[in-house]
Amino acid sequence: MQLALVEMQRRVQGRVPLPWISAEDAWLQTQEKAGRALVRFGDIPLEWSDFRLTFRQTADILLRFEALETADHAAIVALAREGNALEPVVERWYDATSGTGVLRPEGLPAGLDHVLVFALAPFLARCAEVLRQRTPLTVPHPVCPFCGWEPDFAVITPNAERHLICGRCAAQWPFAPLTCPFCANDDRGRIKSFASPDGRYRVSGCDVCHRYLKAYDARNATRPVMAVVDTIATLPLDAEAIKRGYS
Ligand SMILES: [Zn+2]
Ligand SMILES: [Zn+2]
Repeated sequence: MQLALVEMQRRVQGRVPLPWISAEDAWLQTQEKAGRALVRFGDIPLEWSDFRLTFRQTADILLRFEALETADHAAIVALAREGNALEPVVERWYDATSGTGVLRPEGLPAGLDHVLVFALAPFLARCAEVLRQRTPLTVPHPVCPFCGWEPDFAVITPNAERHLICGRCAAQWPFAPLTCPFCANDDRGRIKSFASPDGRYRVSGCDVCHRYLKAYDARNATRPVMAVVDTIATLPLDAEAIKRGYS
């Protein structure tokens, strides 16, 4: 399923133009320092007919791999078909999930979050590409500095830094290797780390919030991190982390 989603995202991303971000540099830097997402909804280069197609195809893939119930799939597809019903939902959902303080829209089909995360990804990734060049990161970011979503993977770089990887737009940014991004715990005695048998991957589990994050160890590695491939390759580590009481 992950590979089918990536294949589709790659196709879409290839035709999404680099966005023109109208925000001033000073405004962007203020947002960055305050830990607020740099991408505003209006900056996302959403071409709605293209987005509807991506949205529909994402829902189909999730249904095919039984990650979406048939009834929810039908409701989600109907949302995309009904005139302009989709646009305000997507805007409100993005605002609510990028730390603006807007509340999530209510009464939406179950599974919609899942579809929106994947369908919006190729569009958000293009925004992150532009903003990464424009706005230096000056403070620690426990969530994605570009879209405000949580990290869902990480990479340990050859010079032993840790970069977090956004679970939505796939942007990478540096973050302290021994601090939990989910609760800010930085007590080394309460961060447990273990590696896969081949040493290629590491898991850090936090004994305060009990969440964990996997990382690809790129020191002595022959290739860079490939978040999707590495996420799948590390499913046994998820099982191990859960066995140890993390979630
Ligand atoms: Zn992001
Ligand atoms: Zn924590």
